[in-house]
Amino acid sequence: MAAQPLEDTLTITPLGSGQEVGRSCHLIQFRGRTVLLDCGIHPGRSGLDALPFLDTVDLSEVDLMLVSHFHIDHAAGVPYITEKTNFQGRVFMTHPTKAVMRMLLSDYIRLLPQDDRGEGGLYDEEDLARCCDRVELVDFHQVVEHEGIRFWSYNAGHVLGAAMFMIEIGGVRLLYTGDYSLEEDRHLVPAEVPTLEPHVLIMESTYGTQKHESRDVREALFTSTIERIVQRGGRCLIPVFALGRAQELLLILDEYWKEREDLQRVPVFYASKMASRALRVYQTYINMMNMHVRDQMDISNPFKFDHVQNLASIDDLDDSGPVVVLAAPGMLQSGVSRQLFDRWASSERNGVVIAGYSVEGTLAKQILSEPDEVKTQDGRTQPRRCTVVSISFSAHVDYFQNFQFVESTMPNNIVLVHGEKNEMSRLKGKLVQETGKWPAESRPTVSSPENGQAVNMRFARDRRVACVGAREEDPFKHKRRADDADAAPEKRRVVKSGVLVSKDLRCTLYADDELRESSPLSVTSLRQTLRLQLASDVGVFRALLGQTFADVEEVAIAGGAEASLDVGGCVRVDVVQADAARELVLAWDASPLGDVVADAVVCVALHCQSSPAALLTTGPCCVPDASAADDPHGAKDAAAFLRAALVDHFGDERVADAPTDDEPAEGEGRDRSASNLSARSDAKMAAVAAFAVTLDDLSATCTFRADGPNFRVDVASDDDPLRRRLRTLLERALDATQPISTKPRKTAAGEGGA
Ligand SMILES: [Zn+2]
Repeated sequence: MAAQPLEDTLTITPLGSGQEVGRSCHLIQFRGRTVLLDCGIHPGRSGLDALPFLDTVDLSEVDLMLVSHFHIDHAAGVPYITEKTNFQGRVFMTHPTKAVMRMLLSDYIRLLPQDDRGEGGLYDEEDLARCCDRVELVDFHQVVEHEGIRFWSYNAGHVLGAAMFMIEIGGVRLLYTGDYSLEEDRHLVPAEVPTLEPHVLIMESTYGTQKHESRDVREALFTSTIERIVQRGGRCLIPVFALGRAQELLLILDEYWKEREDLQRVPVFYASKMASRALRVYQTYINMMNMHVRDQMDISNPFKFDHVQNLASIDDLDDSGPVVVLAAPGMLQSGVSRQLFDRWASSERNGVVIAGYSVEGTLAKQILSEPDEVKTQDGRTQPRRCTVVSISFSAHVDYFQNFQFVESTMPNNIVLVHGEKNEMSRLKGKLVQETGKWPAESRPTVSSPENGQAVNMRFARDRRVACVGAREEDPFKHKRRADDADAAPEKRRVVKSGVLVSKDLRCTLYADDELRESSPLSVTSLRQTLRLQLASDVGVFRALLGQTFADVEEVAIAGGAEASLDVGGCVRVDVVQADAARELVLAWDASPLGDVVADAVVCVALHCQSSPAALLTTGPCCVPDASAADDPHGAKDAAAFLRAALVDHFGDERVADAPTDDEPAEGEGRDRSASNLSARSDAKMAAVAAFAVTLDDLSATCTFRADGPNFRVDVASDDDPLRRRLRTLLERALDATQPISTKPRKTAAGEGGA
């Protein structure tokens, strides 16, 4: 298997709201997993043009779509993705987000031009219903896992149910703020600040480097502006998102009207088809709001306003005198707010209070520059004489709150989204400047990609492996704690042999006996049996088997068998007489080792067949002849084999026989441990043969020693590279003279029979 790269690339691509506000949509790709964050539409555009750049990606690869909150510019594209594309992933949002999204989008479809509904357009009511059926709900802080992706959410303030998402893939954490606010207002809590540091922070930059006035100042300005308009006999229009910030503004107005008897003759209308349903939703989720609202709830429903009336239809509106109307949509694109604006714009007594953020390309943004003329929805040009004031209640962070959030979360990388190009680049500059004062190692990278521009980041792969095995005594623990004789032997997880299981980007090593219980694998064992004819004598087969394998043992003879052997502890061989022929029955548990040993046993059996008599007397060519009386363990043959290996390697003229002296005592001027193959230098082993190897001015002496079946080669040389080279060569050669052992080696070269 090829070595896996040590680094993985995380790619973040804004498909919408890259250097713009509107149609939020971000693609996250890492280690084969794909997550989509939000899918909104651009309020300043229409039809398919309002969607994010979805056609640039293969949506069938998206595993999850996480929706931060119900605003149109974050959620209105969700039914399009689920119903009109090949997206097959799961969709998650909080309870209130789903409830309000359904209401809002139903209203949104109603306002769509006929061409934009159903087939070929964005979607219709049925698509929305099917989409909502697909949505899975999450609570704040609830951890969800899906094929190696873990995520959970935090309260983001902003609007009811708004969430920040922390997403973890392969040990890399990414925090998406969505729209968030750090201020407590009349009904919402401020955003939570996660204590876990993200590697990447995808952060909104709506207000760039601006500073918000305090809430008290803005509220006073808001109420006094409205008061001025109605006191001069004018009509006051407040365009709002149908749900969300409208509730906050209504709470402020209702409270102000309560205090001001002189204003109570001026009616305040909330022109929303959803007013009563919205009220129910807000009541349902009151426990997700702040204490201010919950305390009020104990006295009377704070969303049942005393001085605000619901306006079901614009036809019911009597605007002959001063009046205050809150109406959607918030940026005057169409609908009731636009109808009222067209009706009121030409009188200097009237006024418009823009209370939210206005996106580029919308009428709300356009009138902020106070043009002399405006176009009505049906294309007429009319003078604009009404006053226009912007007071932000949009519940987005300003620069100082954004920076405070960066300081608290200490991300390694920041990706800015959801901000107009200029605001975003100013924010980027300021963030680079401010974080530049930090120590180099904690300074984050800051990027501000435009739509379709991928930001790549490289992360070292987490290569830790969890072990699941039996608890056993740690043999090294005693050595480390030799001074503490009474200490109970410490236990730790030990996996002596196991299976490495890679699942959901995590690796776990399971001990063999834990596989069935603990691993996600289903475990079964396969017992293999193989029969073949044995043409030779049992003795010949037995002898050949012994020359090939180090571990061949006679075992209790099975019923009817002539002989029963265990080879390598994994294959059982029964020799049985069947009819006229003799048969071998091999039985083993399927495993890489068992399969190889069984194959080798079959080869030996076939080898017997070729010339049984000759094999019995001479043995196979390279295996020491074990039958010689004066050399029962084949030491001389092994020595000859080693010499042949040296000659083969260095050439005849460079290898010579050398006198074999007795083993030198330690400390005689030879660096034994370094020159010696043996880990056991104290073993007394007789020298069988010695060879001198001479290479130009370098020389070495190799001494082959034997003690019964245990062999060893000592290499002495003043030249380290030569000594190492000889040692490797002779170790391998010595290996070849030994029968195959399936157990840990006992008589390998240099181990000296330890
Ligand atoms: Zn929003």
